[in-house]
Amino acid sequence: MNTRKLQQVVRSIPTSDGAGVKLRRSLGQAPSLRLDPFLMLDEFSSENADDYIAGFPDHPHRGFETVTYMLDGHMLHEDHLGNRGNLRSGGAQWMTAGRGIIHSEIPQQQSGRMRGFQLWINLPAREKMKPAAYRDIQPEDIPRLALPGGVEVKVIAGTLTVGDATVAGPIQGISTEPLFLDVRLPAGARFTTPLPAGHHAFLYPYEGQLGVGASADRRALDPHEAGLLSTGNEIELLEVSADRGAAAFLLLAARPLREPVVQHGPFVMNSREEIEQAILDYQNGQLV
Ligand code: FE
Repeated sequence: MNTRKLQQVVRSIPTSDGAGVKLRRSLGQAPSLRLDPFLMLDEFSSENADDYIAGFPDHPHRGFETVTYMLDGHMLHEDHLGNRGNLRSGGAQWMTAGRGIIHSEIPQQQSGRMRGFQLWINLPAREKMKPAAYRDIQPEDIPRLALPGGVEVKVIAGTLTVGDATVAGPIQGISTEPLFLDVRLPAGARFTTPLPAGHHAFLYPYEGQLGVGASADRRALDPHEAGLLSTGNEIELLEVSADRGAAAFLLLAARPLREPVVQHGPFVMNSREEIEQAILDYQNGQLV
């Protein structure tokens, strides 16, 4: 057994997107700061409505998937085809943009805490032009696994294996085989799980500090930093501990695509020509 190590830390930077929503961007703040197939991770967290109220008005996407995971708050998603979906505390939306979607994401609250994440995952070349699709996941559809020591894991995508237990999340059958977990650790608790050896994986603590790796070479990972993990050819274990107090983090892993990535804002394709086509299609109302 080979234990994954913390290999690179990407500190999040404050930025804004949409119509002025304040957020922290870790992966995706520069083209060199991606982790194939993960393109971007944004965290939004505020009690101040001015930071989120304008939301994300109509905008396009092509060529990848967006995953929104809400910890607190209420957002309404609408697209140009008339699809509507409510995102509430603890729920998620898995959107496969495919050949194209034009949509808006607008907060449905005037006050209170809005907190969550948006993750962008790339699609393989052969799937970039497939029809758009949505999977809206209600909080009660996300299985929770309670482990010894008070550890709690929510499985949003893929299948978690811990000891003798396996728990399948509601999102399955994606070609990059993503694993998307939300893990809560009480102070002093530890969490160990095997990860597929070929998968790229990273951690994102949103509360508290983590210790990552086997005890001999454990490294600290501070909140709001993406911690990219080493890979190898053996079955690999991940060991994470909350050494300094309770912690909560996302664990994300997926099979890399190893294809060229050409990004122009919300269009992510394999070549410059395909990007130019996406821009033309959007201008001509033929994105979808
Ligand atoms: Fe969007």
